[in-house]
Amino acid sequence: MSEFAGRTAVVTGAGSGIGLAVATELAARGAAVAALDLDPSGTPADVLGLRCDVTDEESVSAAVEEVVQRLGGVDVLVNNAGIGAQGTVETNAYDEWNKVFDVNVLGIVRTTRACLPHLRRSSAAAIVNTCSIAATAGLPNRALYSASKGAVLSLTMAMAADHVTEGIRVNCVNPGTVDTPWVRRLLEAADDPEAELRALQARQPSGRLVSAAEVAGAVTYLAGPAAGATTGTALAVDGGMQGLRLRKS
Ligand code: NAD
Repeated sequence: MSEFAGRTAVVTGAGSGIGLAVATELAARGAAVAALDLDPSGTPADVLGLRCDVTDEESVSAAVEEVVQRLGGVDVLVNNAGIGAQGTVETNAYDEWNKVFDVNVLGIVRTTRACLPHLRRSSAAAIVNTCSIAATAGLPNRALYSASKGAVLSLTMAMAADHVTEGIRVNCVNPGTVDTPWVRRLLEAADDPEAELRALQARQPSGRLVSAAEVAGAVTYLAGPAAGATTGTALAVDGGMQGLRLRKS
């Protein structure tokens, strides 16, 4: 598959999980891909791994400049770096609120600002943000994380409106629970990891976790030529969790 031949993609948080799967898929489909991560050591051989902290504007600017110098431009930006938080509106410290918004929301702002001059020069510019089911469904004990992803959903729509006339499409994906190192860490921390896994699987009507490759497929679709008329949308990749109401009998 070479639908991304001649195009360059920047993927943040591509050292692990969903971002790693996205970078791998875009490279397999012909893109020149840069993986920006706090720890890019897991980057595949055909992907340019760059250390980058999306909370640090200088770090982001330097990484994007290096991508442009080495790969020639930016056609696709996947804003995927994110961190989680558990708690109710009462329990997370204000420092944690600031930290999670700094990564999950302002990280998108910094990376997009750095990439926009280059995206404007592309004839096939697309941005895809990794949002979450937490933006559209009320999940218990996820107040801070959900608020940050709600901001990502609204930011996606506003960015789509701002940049549509420049030829830059902006969309997001809303994954359900995805089997990534992040979720495996949560399971390991649970009192009964097996029971926790069964509960997470049962929460999705499909009865299983989403795979990182399935999210990567949706991101790649939104980033690519088949979605040329699609902007300002959120694509759920959640085993039916948002939209379906099943009954047992
Ligand atoms: P992960 O922890 O496996 O990977 C996240 C990557 O982001 C890591 O490599 C980490 O080093 C990187 N990162 C974190 N902070 C960073 C920073 N400041 N600068 C640069 N890189 C940074 O997690 P994942 O499950 O693959 O999650 C990726 C994205 O998907 C996140 O935005 C998350 O909110 C979203 N998401 C995940 C799930 C899920 O169930 N796993 C569901 C919905 C949405």
